[in-house]
Amino acid sequence: WSERLFGGFRKTSERLTANLDVVGTARLDEATLDDVEDALILSDLGPSAARRIRERLRDKRFGLEISQRELQEAVAEEIAAILRPVAKPLEVTAFPRPQVVLVIGVNGSGKTTTIAKLAHLFQEDDYEVMLAAGDTFRAAAIGQLATWADRIGVPLVRGPEGGDPASIVFDAVKSATDKGTDALIVDTAGRLQNKRELMDELAKIRKVLGRLNPEAPHDVVLVLDATNGQNALNQIDVFKEVAGVTGLVMTKLDGTARGGVLVAAAEQYGLPIHAIGVGEKIDDLRPFDPDLVARVIA
Ligand code: GDP
Repeated sequence: WSERLFGGFRKTSERLTANLDVVGTARLDEATLDDVEDALILSDLGPSAARRIRERLRDKRFGLEISQRELQEAVAEEIAAILRPVAKPLEVTAFPRPQVVLVIGVNGSGKTTTIAKLAHLFQEDDYEVMLAAGDTFRAAAIGQLATWADRIGVPLVRGPEGGDPASIVFDAVKSATDKGTDALIVDTAGRLQNKRELMDELAKIRKVLGRLNPEAPHDVVLVLDATNGQNALNQIDVFKEVAGVTGLVMTKLDGTARGGVLVAAAEQYGLPIHAIGVGEKIDDLRPFDPDLVARVIA
């Protein structure tokens, strides 16, 4: 898998390598550390992670000669140190079942596709999965989810376009409970243009869920599109306010040079990162392996 993962992060890695190339073989002095910090910011790691990595390099190697290659390895090690604490696969532990996973994110972030991929990951672990089409605003979203559900062979609870998402979620939890389904993954609307409405809708879903099982939703997973760079981080702030967020999935890391934003998100928010999307196929969602990702990025 690491080879495909490497392919996924190729542009991000190329960008970081090119940016760090300013250094050459040099004594690690303040000016070189400034260059490193700038290179990291230019690579979308964000000011906070860039600062932290700079300070760590300084503590460990100030005044020592460092080659380009050693620098890159040292940066990879610091990135891994930032990523390790947040790497947390989505686990099915709920008792009683089902585990209810609410998936949120703006339209176009890869939410629907990620739901199918998450279901597939659960299936690989022999869990029974059910989907609920809680984004009733977009007929296309319901259709797309239905297509995925067929393809991977999981039941989908859906209602009419414009139907009440909370009542669909209610039906889905009932059905999943009756069937002894392990995990219920719920799609939700992603209309951030109307924040108030979205907030009310998600609050209503939460209320219905809470009535059926006080622990539900067990997970509120925010899907972020890495191609949005720093803008993806703003979405974390907004969705934390709108819905509460328990963990992240970052998508579209393939084909973007802005994958450094994953490190920025880890450093600035400390939210669990469950998985990363590195392609459009069903098995292109991978559990988040911090050491591998750090090695591939830097
Ligand atoms: P939604 O509007 O948030 O539900 O987004 P979709 O799931 O419909 O995804 C939007 C587009 O992004 C689709 O064409 C997906 O195939 C694509 N997509 C989703 N995740 C990834 C990913 O990790 N990599 C790539 N390259 N494309 C992705």
